Amino acid sequence: MKKISDIMLLWDLQETEKNMNKINKQYKSRTSLKDVEEARALLDGIERSLKALEEELNAQRKVLRRLELKGEEIAEDIQETNKQLYGGEVTATKELVQMEKKLKLLSEENGKLEDMVIQQMEKIEKKEKELLGKRSQEKETQESLKELEEKDRQESRKLKGRYRKHKVSKEQLEAKITSELLEKYAYLKKKAGFNVVAKVKGGVCLGCQVSLSSSTIGSLYTPGILITCENCGRLIFQQE
Ligand SMILES: [Zn+2]
Repeated sequence: MKKISDIMLLWDLQETEKNMNKINKQYKSRTSLKDVEEARALLDGIERSLKALEEELNAQRKVLRRLELKGEEIAEDIQETNKQLYGGEVTATKELVQMEKKLKLLSEENGKLEDMVIQQMEKIEKKEKELLGKRSQEKETQESLKELEEKDRQESRKLKGRYRKHKVSKEQLEAKITSELLEKYAYLKKKAGFNVVAKVKGGVCLGCQVSLSSSTIGSLYTPGILITCENCGRLIFQQE
């Protein structure tokens, strides 16, 4: 009876290996990992736009500083011209008229500059709001990424645990099966892939669904010999 029970163990080994393969596939294509990868890509995009926004904001602040410096220069110029004009130092009419003209031009320029400063400040304010929005989006995405990573860790642990259990069963089964049969099994598997052991039910090989000859069916009940299906070559045994 030893061989018959051996082939059943071989069947169990085959099923265990199939389960291990299935878990491996589940592990590689797990949705929790895809979710993590998506969140990471989203965060990358947000961080890139944050960097771009910060650079734009810096450039606009520089423009504002230049405008403000120009404004200070004009203000000084106006002050100086006023001092000359009303300080009593200049008395020639022609010169006074020229100075008044200069003063008028300066205050016009000053007015335009003030408008530009206001416009620039508004631009900066808008960018700052945009930046704040992006930063909160960054924070939200970071938090959701953390959650997704935790979920994925749990899922991984679960799958790895299941895989380990099957691996232990596989080792226990292999310890019970003769090395001769294990070698035969390994050889067939190398040649044909999975499902090299098949059950027989109602005289039909369940590996290839072909009816077996009566002599083959008869030998299924002979203890101690390995039977292969004459059609597909799988190792076969009578299903209990
Ligand atoms: Zn067959």
